[in-house]
Amino acid sequence: MKVCKFGGTSMATTQSILQVKSIIDRDPERKFIVVSAPGKRFSNDVKITDMLYAAYDEKVAFGTCKSSMKVIRERFLGLCEELGLDIDMNKYLDEVEEGIINSTSSDYAASRGEYLSAIVVSAVLGFKMIDAGDIIKFNNNGIFDAELTNDLVKKYADYTDGIVIPGFYGRMPDKTIKTFTRGGSDFTGAIIARGIGARIYENWTDVNGFMVTDPRIVENPKHISVLSYEELRELSYMGAGVLHPDSIFPVQIDNIPINIRNTFDPENEGTMIMDNTAGYVLPVVTGIAGRKGNTTILIKKAMMNGELGFCRKVLTVLERHGISVEHIPTGIDTMGIVLSDAGLKNADEEKIISDIRGMVNPDFIKISHSLALIAVVGHGMVNQLGTAAKIFTALYEAGVNIRMIDQGSSELNIIVGVEEKDYNASIKAIYNAFFG
Ligand code: ASP
Repeated sequence: MKVCKFGGTSMATTQSILQVKSIIDRDPERKFIVVSAPGKRFSNDVKITDMLYAAYDEKVAFGTCKSSMKVIRERFLGLCEELGLDIDMNKYLDEVEEGIINSTSSDYAASRGEYLSAIVVSAVLGFKMIDAGDIIKFNNNGIFDAELTNDLVKKYADYTDGIVIPGFYGRMPDKTIKTFTRGGSDFTGAIIARGIGARIYENWTDVNGFMVTDPRIVENPKHISVLSYEELRELSYMGAGVLHPDSIFPVQIDNIPINIRNTFDPENEGTMIMDNTAGYVLPVVTGIAGRKGNTTILIKKAMMNGELGFCRKVLTVLERHGISVEHIPTGIDTMGIVLSDAGLKNADEEKIISDIRGMVNPDFIKISHSLALIAVVGHGMVNQLGTAAKIFTALYEAGVNIRMIDQGSSELNIIVGVEEKDYNASIKAIYNAFFG
């Protein structure tokens, strides 16, 4: 069997939903369908999920969410009418509106786009709908409970009549709805694929899979036909936006391949993501991804390397401030810490620096902003001499000053930090060095 997850653009219009139906009708193995909330229909349209967050904000501010719900209502009622569905959508929309009024966090509201989408799609396909809250479970601390969930999903493994499951959310033991992070329906799809023992997890989106790099920066970059799970994780964590970075974890356990496909170009084979890439000719560099918005803290201290517990003490300060660390490039007497600006948003930077001073008494400490990170990812690097040299030469020739270098211990990637203003030029230079 196949698990098929359809993203927001596939759910956005009557035509796209009918296209989804034709994709499912074409293959009798496509019986487990996970859906996102309707996404954008055109570039400045608003996703249903964002409207639902706005509905929650409206209820917090004014005690009602009528005006946000009006637009959401119109969208779903319009879909039902155009698709000729005989379902009482108003009843579900009333239930959602009331639920938002009574909820104490935005998760319930945010999850309703997927819930309503699943109602529509199950009616279109004539498949049974299973509420994600009944099978996707979180513990009391809000942590996803993988094993309990897997046991619950497993029960449907032999179900062959077709099931539709809303993505993005599950339920806590006290019945409260909890969502994954944004884009989390990809993760739901992977959970279902593991639970039912799928042969393949098809993730249907609006592009033909992964490209070597961001097409907004490099015109017409090469397409990636095969990626390993680890490469995917590195690329998506670093900003390649096609798939949620956590999606590999459930499927990797049982080696289930993920196939990224395009709803609007269903004949295209897309990108395969799997463990066993034997038989494929793999390039040295598979992909180049990156993201702006990082901060570095540089710490220097003579004879740091001999000082027991130095790194631990610095990291303890960050932990106390609730800051998670992205990278830690170190030298003999220097320690660099790369943090994401988003993670630092509510932090008191001056206090962090003075706490580090108090803890390890460094000779020098400096915090700098506007760092862009670029990851050059590929399994082939391990056995290939000169990959790093090629990257650094390309950047040198493009006149880019490298502010940080970090090579993951698996030799799967080389990460460079550059000024944000040099970001596009760096991506182009590295791409041309390997693929130009
Ligand atoms: N609808 C949610 C979002 O916009 C989840 C998803 O589409 O995967 O993030």
